[in-house]
Amino acid sequence: MKRRAFLKLSGMSAATALLAGCRSRNEKLIPYLVPPDEGITPGRANYYASACRSCAAGCGILVRVSEGRAKKIEGNPSHPVNRGKLCARGQALVQELYHPDRIVTPLKRSGARGSGNFTKISWDEAMRILTAQLKGVQVRGRDRLALVTPPFNGSLAELTAEFMKGMGSPHHVTFDLQSPEWLAAAYRENYGSAALPYYDLSETRYVLSFGADFLEHHLSPVHYGYAFGQMRQGRDTVRGHFAYVGGRLSLTAASADRWVPARPGTEGAVALAMARVILQEKLHDEGSLSANGIQAGSLLKGLAKYDVPRVAEFAGIQPQTIVELAKDFATTTPALAMVGEKVAFQSNGRASFRAVHLLNVLVGGLNRKGGIYPAAGPSTSATGGYAGLATLVERMRAGQIEAALIHGNPFHSIPVATGFQEALAKVPFVASFSSILNDSAMAADLILPDSSTLESWGDVVPVSGTREPVVGLMQPVVAPLHDTRQFGDVLLATAAALNGQAGAGQQKTYLDYLKGSLKKRGAADSPAQWNELLRQGVLLGKRGGESAQYRWSGGGGTPDVEPPRFVGDQKQFPLFLETYPSIKTNGGAALPWLQQLPDTMTTVVWDSWVEINPKTAAQLGIAIGDLVEVASPQGSVRLPAIIYPGIRPDLVAIPLGQGQFAGGRYAKGVGVNPLVLLQAAAEAGATHPAWQATRVSVRRISPEGNLVMHGHPQGSYRSELVGV
Ligand code: SF4
Repeated sequence: MKRRAFLKLSGMSAATALLAGCRSRNEKLIPYLVPPDEGITPGRANYYASACRSCAAGCGILVRVSEGRAKKIEGNPSHPVNRGKLCARGQALVQELYHPDRIVTPLKRSGARGSGNFTKISWDEAMRILTAQLKGVQVRGRDRLALVTPPFNGSLAELTAEFMKGMGSPHHVTFDLQSPEWLAAAYRENYGSAALPYYDLSETRYVLSFGADFLEHHLSPVHYGYAFGQMRQGRDTVRGHFAYVGGRLSLTAASADRWVPARPGTEGAVALAMARVILQEKLHDEGSLSANGIQAGSLLKGLAKYDVPRVAEFAGIQPQTIVELAKDFATTTPALAMVGEKVAFQSNGRASFRAVHLLNVLVGGLNRKGGIYPAAGPSTSATGGYAGLATLVERMRAGQIEAALIHGNPFHSIPVATGFQEALAKVPFVASFSSILNDSAMAADLILPDSSTLESWGDVVPVSGTREPVVGLMQPVVAPLHDTRQFGDVLLATAAALNGQAGAGQQKTYLDYLKGSLKKRGAADSPAQWNELLRQGVLLGKRGGESAQYRWSGGGGTPDVEPPRFVGDQKQFPLFLETYPSIKTNGGAALPWLQQLPDTMTTVVWDSWVEINPKTAAQLGIAIGDLVEVASPQGSVRLPAIIYPGIRPDLVAIPLGQGQFAGGRYAKGVGVNPLVLLQAAAEAGATHPAWQATRVSVRRISPEGNLVMHGHPQGSYRSELVGV
């Protein structure tokens, strides 16, 4: 019997045994041992387990495949992160696969850069061009190569690192505005461990979120959405309480019992004022303080300037609110406090981060049921990040980079204030691995289209949402639709063509590399384990012991939160700007299901908008749907206005994800990209600038904003929460 036939039979018998004994869909899973282009029985569906890589949460998916076509995606019930649930972005992977504007074969630029004129070429020719360019770079200076990718993890992170090491270039930039890299750096500073947190939401009784939108995009939204439901309704006699501190009523904030709209950049001071109340009232957990090297008396002394009336005035909230929050938080056990990107990316974000986590230490919320633990996520990349981006931009500007390899869409997702887009134009050779003609591919000379998630192999290590080490496997669920190749395969073939000089040249295919990488990491190191991984789509490791715990570093030094600094003169630019991720980020804007999906708070479809408080709108003579101009010292955008009581009068907010000049028929020309408004100044720390520290002005242009809404924002929030 041939090996392939044997594998098919053994795989099928495993599946048959499961089908016979069980009824759930998860147990009808068949592994890739029966390839998706074979064994098609008309009318009968097969289910394949795979993983979603559309954000860092790394959820498990089950794909229903019928007649060789992927028909429907659901969450994998065996995956501990999402437990059978899935967000709309994960569901829309089907549209990514069947997108009518996918790049179906390699392309070579035939017009001016940015013109969108490309000629179809074969993979042989594409590989010849790529290797010839890289050989030239190797001769002229090995550090003249740059690789710009999203922050990969698992085997692809290893492969890209090996490839760049072999090439001899340090310029692998993994910067992403939304990546949790900054948070990882803050955790390292605070706890000596870069592990991102696992919030034990389902077991807690009080959640206090400082700008962490955990139901929408913060770390692992599907997992925390599920856990939030458990916290509220999963226990017979306990309904957990939730308070949210932040200037905009996000979907997460709208699910809270109490919304505290503090002025942007003052959240850390509010946390310290709460800490002072807790210490003054002796509501703290003495054991937790001493275990973390903090002496209550000296901490209280250090917090002298954070007296409640002063901080309340600074934050624009009632003094009584701070006192009530502090008492409720400290007397409801267990409780946990979390801090999100909109606080962390202020100029004082690092200190605010520490201030919020001090609250966890004060109430004994570290490493305990209902508190926060270190998650068993991937180790984060030591290179790349914002510092790497800044260095790369300088070198590109100086003409010291001759070839740039780009995966993803950094041209759209990196703020123009970094100079990345303008500097990239100076690089003589740019290759893109995009599967769609997005803004970055438009800036390329050569496009080597990657396969879609549902056609690809890979491993996905979730960043949060589980305390156990987890490896999710991505496997092809349909035969490749077009003449595309996986990015990993192209890197390996390039390394081999460069005679092994570029490293990563041992394995011929990315599938072999993936298997080797999993084996090295102690996952799937036997054929039986590999088959189990194929069938279930996920492998769980053992939870870490005592060593995998957070411990406050820096002892009793009191956190000090400086007043925030903002870019833009207050008179000329009187309003704060908040930008936040939407379902359209990470390529979502290209997918019509997601364009058609009404925004949860505003109900807007197929557009961008700016949220303005009714008082501010009245002062500026702006009505809902008017076209307005939002301007910062960096640039301006025109977009329709939404009059939204769920935002402070001194704050306006614009979602991210839209505003591409390419990206396929559904994304092209839809909405605006608010990243053109941001400046890279007002540094929050070495790893990330303060993206939330921009001031803007707003003026009415005309009544023709052409806003399309499915309903009205009034239906999206509880009026008692916003006080109208
Ligand atoms: S939360 Fe992220 S990983 Fe999970 S389904 Fe949504 S996009 Fe995919």
